[in-house]
Amino acid sequence: MIKIEREKDITFVSSSVTDFADSMGYCEYKIPLSIKGVKPRPTQSLILGTKAHHAEEKYEQEHVELEPVTVEAIEDEQVDIEFARENVYSTLSMPFEFQTENVLVTLSGRIDKIMRVEGTLVVQDDKFVGRPQIYEQKTQPYPSHLLQVLAYLNSVYSGKRGNNPEHWFDLPHTKKKWELRICDRKTREPYKIFSEYQDAFSLHYLHSSLEKFTTIALDISEPEHHNSQSKCNACNFKSFCEFKI
Ligand code: SF4
Repeated sequence: MIKIEREKDITFVSSSVTDFADSMGYCEYKIPLSIKGVKPRPTQSLILGTKAHHAEEKYEQEHVELEPVTVEAIEDEQVDIEFARENVYSTLSMPFEFQTENVLVTLSGRIDKIMRVEGTLVVQDDKFVGRPQIYEQKTQPYPSHLLQVLAYLNSVYSGKRGNNPEHWFDLPHTKKKWELRICDRKTREPYKIFSEYQDAFSLHYLHSSLEKFTTIALDISEPEHHNSQSKCNACNFKSFCEFKI
């Protein structure tokens, strides 16, 4: 859900990372629907994907012995660290100054996997899909998937749920890299991995998407239609949306 609150002269826009990424990477018309509190029923694919995530988390707990991560290790860029799966929460905050108001946007999320390897901060996100073969010819990830990992990469982190700044920590690094693993839902094995270092282009893409997301949420600008009937047919909001084509 996307929430808007006004306090004194600041407008706070808060959203989950996935609602932001889904709106800006799939369809901008999801923003006003989400603000209204529309909650589509989870699709079968989402339910099965969530089950696979839980199974993967349990597998790691039972089969992988990770070194405990200390504060000293976090602060030392030279030390390789790996956090347990689904154990790190992210918060991205971005201020915007518009003509009409000053805004602080906050995106909250939970990261599948985060680590630092030889000074590089790596965020991994797994997509468990029924037919991974359809990704065979794809050379780039879907925009919504890319926005999700970029949001995680540019956040502060916490081992606890909630946006308490006292729990936030940073992970010093020299470079940032995202990995999107397309996994077979049955075997949970990666079928295809998209991966790149973050560059100025992707950072600009994240920033401009955040700005547009904010202006749409605050009614400063209108959503743009993708004009794709197949997207509307596959959309989980279609039964609530007057802009479906
Ligand atoms: S039904 Fe179509 S226009 Fe409406 S939110 Fe879904 S994709 Fe967007």
